[in-house]
Amino acid sequence: MSEPLGPHDSVVVVGAGLAGWRLAATLRHRGFAGPITLVGEESARPYDRPPLTKQVLAGSLALEELALEREVDPSLTWRLGVRARALDVDARRVILADGDTVTGTRVVVATGVRARHLDVSADDRLHYVRRLEDVTRLESDLAGRAPSSPVAVIGGGFIGAEVATSLAHRGFRPIVLEAMDRPLLNVLGPDVAGWLAELPALAGIELRTGCAVAGVTTDGDDVVISLVGGATVRAPVVVAGIGALPNTEWLEGSGLALDNGVVVDEDYSAAPGVAAIGDVARFPWAGPAGVERARIEHWQVANDHAMELARRWTAPAEPHHPLVPYFWSDQYGAKIQVLGHPRPTDVVQVVAGDPRDARFVALYSRDEVVTGVVALRSPRALALARPILLAPTTLGDALARAPWER
Ligand SMILES: Cc1cc2nc3c(=O)[nH]c(=O)nc-3n(C[C@H](O)[C@H](O)[C@H](O)COP(=O)(O)OP(=O)(O)OC[C@H]3O[C@@H](n4cnc5c(N)ncnc54)[C@H](O)[C@@H]3O)c2cc1C
Repeated sequence: MSEPLGPHDSVVVVGAGLAGWRLAATLRHRGFAGPITLVGEESARPYDRPPLTKQVLAGSLALEELALEREVDPSLTWRLGVRARALDVDARRVILADGDTVTGTRVVVATGVRARHLDVSADDRLHYVRRLEDVTRLESDLAGRAPSSPVAVIGGGFIGAEVATSLAHRGFRPIVLEAMDRPLLNVLGPDVAGWLAELPALAGIELRTGCAVAGVTTDGDDVVISLVGGATVRAPVVVAGIGALPNTEWLEGSGLALDNGVVVDEDYSAAPGVAAIGDVARFPWAGPAGVERARIEHWQVANDHAMELARRWTAPAEPHHPLVPYFWSDQYGAKIQVLGHPRPTDVVQVVAGDPRDARFVALYSRDEVVTGVVALRSPRALALARPILLAPTTLGDALARAPWER
């Protein structure tokens, strides 16, 4: 159990994104009055990322409307626009890129992930959407282009699909290039990925599968994407969404265990007085099929990590809330929602709706235990299905209870 914060404690949070900001705000809300310093590499105050590829790129939300803070809390100390470059774990001292240091009795790593880049010569002509400034740069590249201009989107995963949807909404002509034979195959498995692969055509968006990128060059104003097999695709604007990498390089040599993220225990502790939360944390997730080490890049998981860590550091005797991962994506005119943390190899069974109508609820199971629920255009059913993931539930029991039908 974590030691509760006392009057002489001070907290340094590295990473001023959702998890870092939510932790600071929740510690204050729970009565911790000691010093809290947030260190953030971005100069913007904390903001919400999911709308970047949805409403912002679709043109219905301004960047200024993404702020997470309702009002500025003057009791927090901010070091924005500067990266942390090292951590002295024993001294709980964070060394900043400008040479300053910030020391606390507790340090929280909430440095998230960054977009993975293609290893190609013309990478500087590609766009990746992770930060506010990425959207600003993309918008200036789109500005003045004919509304029907092609935009190549490399990667048909969640980010690529949302970018294509939003740009199509504005009249651009996205061409989604997916390396696998259907998008999201390695996330949601062959059945669900196969059903979702029908959505782009229904939305009038071109999806080309089996298109692995071999190289990217430029030819005048055009970006030329060479595909494995010899074909090429040209477009003046190219956006890539090919995954993300945890921001842990600054912790190399610190002594913390780094293995596809910062490895933490069930109290989010990476070392005495040092915790990690959010996208960057590799934590033991107590799921319905047992405990597994997971690093999950979901908004709600980052938020829940922060709330839980604040609870453990202020009222450790309070019962822990079970974490049920939740993710949503708005793409090709449909809302996809996933509860739990299913594997692509899990067994899938449709329990409501019909994939042929592009509306369904399906259960994932492993060894007859439900591991996840995926819903397409069925938000109410998904919300009702949550209880079957709060405690281990057999497939038979879930089918008998059918909470999604209520
Ligand atoms: C375009 C987009 C759309 C998304 N859509 C969805 C969605 O629909 N549904 C969903 O569930 N999730 C979505 N997500 C994921 C969700 O936004 C993340 O899970 C969430 O932001 C994670 O919060 P975090 O605080 O862990 O990391 P982040 O929000 O990435 O914040 C980490 C911060 O740490 C900073 N940082 C990194 N290294 C350092 C350093 N060395 N020193 C100081 N600061 C540093 C970073 O600059 C960043 O500001 C989306 C993400 C993106 C980018």
